[in-house]
Amino acid sequence: MSKERPNVRLFVEQVLEAEVEIAVGTAQAHYLARVMRLQSDDRIRLFNGRDGEWLARITSVSRSWCELLAESMLRAQHAEPGPVLAFAPIKKDPMHYLVEKATELGVERLLPVATRNTVVEQVNLDRMRAHVVEAAEQCGRLTIPHVDPPKPLDAFVAEWPEPRPLLFMDEHASVRPIAEAIAACATRSPGPPLPPGILVGPEGGFAEVEAEALRALAFVMPVSLGPRILRAETAALAALACWQAFAGDWRPSNRSG
Ligand code: SAM
Repeated sequence: MSKERPNVRLFVEQVLEAEVEIAVGTAQAHYLARVMRLQSDDRIRLFNGRDGEWLARITSVSRSWCELLAESMLRAQHAEPGPVLAFAPIKKDPMHYLVEKATELGVERLLPVATRNTVVEQVNLDRMRAHVVEAAEQCGRLTIPHVDPPKPLDAFVAEWPEPRPLLFMDEHASVRPIAEAIAACATRSPGPPLPPGILVGPEGGFAEVEAEALRALAFVMPVSLGPRILRAETAALAALACWQAFAGDWRPSNRSG
C-alpha cells in the first residue's frame, strides 16, 4: 500500500514539471530509504526554489540512489521576502543553531560579517548551506535563504542597498526599543514594509569605533533588545521574531503568494 508522506520534503536543483524524472544523490536517497523507510510508489514533496512545490512518486529507491517522477504541482512558487541577517560569525554549534532557526523564521539572506572583535576566522559555507536547506525542507518554505561569503563590516556597510533600513543591534547605547524601530520602518512604505537588514555583533560585541560609525549612517537604525545582554544568536533570533510578528509574514496581510 503506497503512502503519501506530506511532511517529507526534499530540495532538488532540477527543473520541476509534470512527468519529469528526478534522480537524487546518496545522502537524500539514504534519508528516504533508511531514515524514512520509504519504498517505490510512496509519494513525497519536492521543491527547487523556482517551480513551486510538487508531489512526486518514488519510482526506485535504494540506500544510495533514488528516482522520482514529478506528478502534480501542490503549491505555485511565490516570493518569500524576509529580513537580511548580517551577523559576526560565532562558534560552530551556536552558528548551526542560528542559521537553522533564522531559516525557519523566514530570513531571506544570511551574511557573515567580520568585525574587529570577531574571533571565528573560518566560516564553512557548505555546512551553512546544508543547514539552511535542511531547515527549509522541514519548515515548508519554497525558497532557500541565500548564504553570502563573509565580508568585512566596512565593505558590508558600503554595499548596503540604501534606503533599505539596517537595524543595528546596539547593546550599549540608550537607543530606541526594537518595537518602535520596526513601527518606524513600517510607516516608511505604503505597502507591506520592505524587510530590513538586521546586524548583530560577535560574542565580544562591536568595537566602540564601529558602533559610532554605524550610528552616524542615515540608513542605520540603532536598536535595543532590552536591558539584558543577549548572546549573539539570541539577539539575532529575537530581532527576527520581532520583525515577523510586528511587520512581517506572521501577519497574514503581509504574506506574499
Ligand atoms: N558587548 C556585549 C557585552 O557587553 O558583553 C557582548 C555582545 S553580545 C553577546 C552579541 C551581540 O548581540 C551584540 O553585539 C549585539 O549586536 C547583540 N545584543 C546583545 N544584547 C543586546 C541588547 N540588549 N540590545 C541590542 N543588541 C544586543
